[in-house]
Amino acid sequence: MSKKVRVRFAPSPTGPLHIGGVRTALFNYLFAKKYGGDFVLRIEDTDQNRYVEGAEDYIIKSLDWCGMPFDEGPGKNEKFGPYRQSERKHLYKQYADDLIASGNAYYAFDTAEQLDAERKGHEAEGKTFIYNWHNREKGRLVNSLVLTEAETKAKIEAGDDYVIRFKSPQDETLQLTDIIRGNMKIDTNVLDDKVLFKSDGMPTYHLANIVDDHLMEITHVIRGEEWLPSLALHQLLYNAFGWDAPEFAHLPLILKPTGKGKLSKRDGDKMGFPVFPLEYTATDGTVSRGYKEDGYFPEAVINFLAFLGWNPGTEQEIFSLEQLVADFDLARVNKAGARFDPDKTKWFNHQYMQQQLDLDLAKTFKARQPELADIDVNYIALTVGLIKERATFVSDFWDLSHFFFTAPTAYDEKASKKALKEGTADIMTKVIELVNVTEDFTVENLQTNIKGWITDNDIGFGKVMMPLRLALVGALQGPDVFDIMYLIGKAETVKRIEALVKSI
Ligand code: GLU
Repeated sequence: MSKKVRVRFAPSPTGPLHIGGVRTALFNYLFAKKYGGDFVLRIEDTDQNRYVEGAEDYIIKSLDWCGMPFDEGPGKNEKFGPYRQSERKHLYKQYADDLIASGNAYYAFDTAEQLDAERKGHEAEGKTFIYNWHNREKGRLVNSLVLTEAETKAKIEAGDDYVIRFKSPQDETLQLTDIIRGNMKIDTNVLDDKVLFKSDGMPTYHLANIVDDHLMEITHVIRGEEWLPSLALHQLLYNAFGWDAPEFAHLPLILKPTGKGKLSKRDGDKMGFPVFPLEYTATDGTVSRGYKEDGYFPEAVINFLAFLGWNPGTEQEIFSLEQLVADFDLARVNKAGARFDPDKTKWFNHQYMQQQLDLDLAKTFKARQPELADIDVNYIALTVGLIKERATFVSDFWDLSHFFFTAPTAYDEKASKKALKEGTADIMTKVIELVNVTEDFTVENLQTNIKGWITDNDIGFGKVMMPLRLALVGALQGPDVFDIMYLIGKAETVKRIEALVKSI
């Protein structure tokens, strides 16, 4: 690659960024970093009707949380700025005019009602209305191809509403190339004359997108498959301007967990998983869950998103962002849709949980659990080290570890039935003695004393260990009994066993 790689993530600020958008951003980021290029953020806000306050801020915060901040964009390294299309409004008209001058575009004055009538008329005959070579010069449609120059000028000066349409070529075969999909051929006769510019002074997505990619020197356009149908028009626009087109890569759709259809917010609501990186409160007050607030590590989110459409071609599944940058390759991105698997995202989180420092996890745990307000975070870290292998989220910690902090207030009924047998009280009284005589209160010494006593007296292990666990935990769960005794300390251990004996 001779030119410096420059890619852009170009979301429209119409609401919170869906994880599909985050995946697009990620693949752009990985590609840019792999080739030492620039990752540009451009806000495509030409459609003012769909603009949502706060959406841009949400997008930027999401990129930051994921650890893939943009290099260039609104408020940052504005070499090619501004990066909000609404602030570039003045730029686009000239390009639309150029296309008219070169015969690649024309003014159209058809009113919404006229077009609607055409559409309905076609529908009634079982046809679809498209505005292009087959009807644009037949006289029913009102545009500068049929009007004289003077008539056109008079209409514009009279303030008639108009749009500028691209004049799609007739009877041509267009060659398109996509890094992921290979070569495609398109018959230009099937294309409609898309609107490029409106009389309100705003360009449409198509014009603004091409002009900006050109002016911002974008070398690779990496975006979702939903834009593949626009590729022909975009290529034609580059040709019409006489500009080199960037290379294109259209990423596969992200499919519902069932594998059928595009993943939507509703799937998330129905199956209980987030589809947004961060929690989002809409203007009507509805709150949508976010991966962050649900307790996911950004590393886990990045890792699972990378696998939605890409694979390394090996068995390796755990990739840090740096490793992804090193191994990522657009040639290994699939054409077929990628099925979203909520269980797999949890699996990734569990894996990343194991990599976190116990002290960091303890800090998060302490901050969210009021019962831990007065507990030393280093002590919490020791308990975390014992239970995190069974946790997916920090929110699982309390259920897995409460007994390190508070004595059982009740004993699980089923567990009691299983653990409490004739003679249990006597055995536990003996265990209290053994605990009391363990001077140096370490896991090893406790083990030696208690296990030694069990073997010497030929008592079944279960007869001792089950009621002991019940006394300490209140149920037959938790990590190693000796670890628990060691951490809660001698006095507390004795107190809990005494309480069990009393309850029998
Ligand atoms: N603004 C478009 C979107 O919201 C960008 C499409 C593109 O990347 O060309 O997805």
